[in-house]
Amino acid sequence: MTARLIDGNALSQQLRADVAARAAALRARGTVPGLAVVLVGDNPASQVYVRNKVKACEDNGLHSVLERHPADLAEDALLARVDALNRDPAIHGILVQLPLPAHIDAQKVIEAIAPEKDVDGFHVASAGALMTGSAGFWPCTPYGCMKMLDSIGYDLRGKHAVVIGRSNIVGKPMALMLLARSATVTVCHSATADLGAFTRQADVVVAAVGKRNVLTADMVKPGAVVIDVGMNRDDAGKLCGDVDFAGVREVAGWITPVPGGVGPMTITMLLVNTLESAERAAGSGTSAST
Ligand code: NAP
Repeated sequence: MTARLIDGNALSQQLRADVAARAAALRARGTVPGLAVVLVGDNPASQVYVRNKVKACEDNGLHSVLERHPADLAEDALLARVDALNRDPAIHGILVQLPLPAHIDAQKVIEAIAPEKDVDGFHVASAGALMTGSAGFWPCTPYGCMKMLDSIGYDLRGKHAVVIGRSNIVGKPMALMLLARSATVTVCHSATADLGAFTRQADVVVAAVGKRNVLTADMVKPGAVVIDVGMNRDDAGKLCGDVDFAGVREVAGWITPVPGGVGPMTITMLLVNTLESAERAAGSGTSAST
């Protein structure tokens, strides 16, 4: 069997077209959806990420503000900027690009963002909302993975989903989202003994580790859906995921590629969350994340 691809670029285009249409409708009613992206320091990867986020806003009718600060910005000064953005009615979403320099407590900064503008979904209020099934913002990467499963019409009810990785931004929220759809969920991590024993039972595997070839063909049940969140470099310096794509695609039923899979979906869901925040502020939100 050769797995069918879940194309993150194509799905992103569809979802972004919807964002652009909803943004235009909101603008026509006098609200311009606005995202503030805050970058501290000059981490090269972060610079690329924030540029891509700002461009995605511009391309889809959202207003964006990119704040660049020097690496030695004091924590208090950053907290003051977040506070100002919290009170700015033109800003509906605030994203502080991680990682922050070591002298700044990243969690403290995230907790300073008003939960109604926490479009990254990293605030404890957002995590609590996800856990309890109440309205809030879902973290963009696992939210994008859910959209990919929806795009193939996959019914998770009663299926066994295995999530590899338990970070606060991917693995744990992913597990909660799958659980909310009535999948039976197993979360694996670096201390899991015999990872393959779990993944071989899985109807859905989400790999969110950050190591190449964590999932190989012998670890996958025939016909399973495999979502690859990982972003790594191969020996030739090319972007690759956590999954041995060439091998696993011969066993799986569906698979996401890297690049062109989860990556573009993450930025797309940031746009969706920002738009949703603007719609809520304008009194027309649809609770997209719930
Ligand atoms: P993270 O915070 O480093 O978490 C990695 C997780 O993998 C941890 O829970 C760790 O377990 C687990 N792990 C490590 N080695 C393992 C092994 N051999 N077997 C099973 N589990 C193992 O990383 P993250 O932020 O969740 O990101 C994961 C990957 O996704 C990275 O490659 C990152 O670049 C990528 N990512 C991609 C996007 C995107 O838009 N495509 C967005 C976010 C992240 P312990 O908890 O026991 O240490």
